[in-house]
Amino acid sequence: MLRIGLIAHDGKKPEMVSFVVANKRFLSSAKIYATGTTGKHIVNEGFDVECLLSGPKGGDAQIAALIATGDIDAVIFFRDPLDKHPHEPDVQMLMRICDVHNIPLATNPKSAFLILKGMHCENEGEG
Ligand code: PGA
Repeated sequence: MLRIGLIAHDGKKPEMVSFVVANKRFLSSAKIYATGTTGKHIVNEGFDVECLLSGPKGGDAQIAALIATGDIDAVIFFRDPLDKHPHEPDVQMLMRICDVHNIPLATNPKSAFLILKGMHCENEGEG
């Protein structure tokens, strides 16, 4: 089962909700980890989500820790480039950990869609 980390800054939460709803069939078969508030929005759409702490309280760091221990296969992180974030160091750390462990990271819906598409093909290849 694919394990995906989902995070969206406040200004991008509506985009995240639209994204998960549009890709419900695929994402319903994945194990979803999400930062606290993002997770609540996704749960409201009927998904089973393991909700971590809110991002500013350490949720991004928890996602990074799961990547470091090999427990997450891809990250979709809709960052808001037009807003400031008190936990910017955690955001940078999370992106660095993705690079350290060669984990696909999408920061906008189009690249996220390509990741899902790629992972779908990878899975079919394995099956
Ligand atoms: P949130 O955290 O899902 O708890 O809002 C996201 C973030 O800002 O990193």
